[in-house]
Amino acid sequence: MRERQRRVLIVEDEPTIADSVAARLRAEGFAVHVARDGPGGVAAAASTRPDVVVLDVMLPGFDGLEVCRRIQAERPVPVLMLTARDDETDVLVGLAVGADDYLTKPFSIRELAARVHALLRRVDRVVEDPAPIVLGDLEINPAQRRVRRAGDEVHLTPTEFDLLVHLAQRPRAVQPRERLLAEIWGWGDGAGTRTVDSHVKALRRKLGADLIRTVHGIGYALEVGE
Ligand code: CA
Repeated sequence: MRERQRRVLIVEDEPTIADSVAARLRAEGFAVHVARDGPGGVAAAASTRPDVVVLDVMLPGFDGLEVCRRIQAERPVPVLMLTARDDETDVLVGLAVGADDYLTKPFSIRELAARVHALLRRVDRVVEDPAPIVLGDLEINPAQRRVRRAGDEVHLTPTEFDLLVHLAQRPRAVQPRERLLAEIWGWGDGAGTRTVDSHVKALRRKLGADLIRTVHGIGYALEVGE
């Protein structure tokens, strides 16, 4: 199968950062578009249909959170969010804004490129296993990346979808946060377990609070009716 060129959208108002990220990703074979403000980012996402978005939080027009919401409302796409400080990342993780990964400035361009590749690998991986999963009133179609609960379609971000599939593959089994983090995000050191919490919170909001059980100090389990 011939691989088509992957498209990246960078939304960043600082020219030095935007230019260096763009240069690195072009060198790695990506087709790169750059937007400099919030409205421009939303418009570019609609017109270029990127495979992945690198999104700064502090932007002119409206901020990266709003850009993320608007982009995800149109079409699920992985988002790597750039934050100015660690505590800003904490706040965003707590808000469960729908970003798939976070990188705090200053970051190395090599690290950013590695995160972009990791996001794309995750999206590709689930599509390779297309068997539908039906658990009670929950229906998951991995090939189309679509989810229904009680017949209603629910729109999930790519990471929310991957997390749901992981939990649904072993229903009622407790899955430790560290393992989810390693298997879905590819992070092996156990750091960032709050990222898992954030995405569970988003899944509960969208699919119902009863669907995922918290096992305190350990992790999560999917609870579904027979
Ligand atoms: Ca900025």
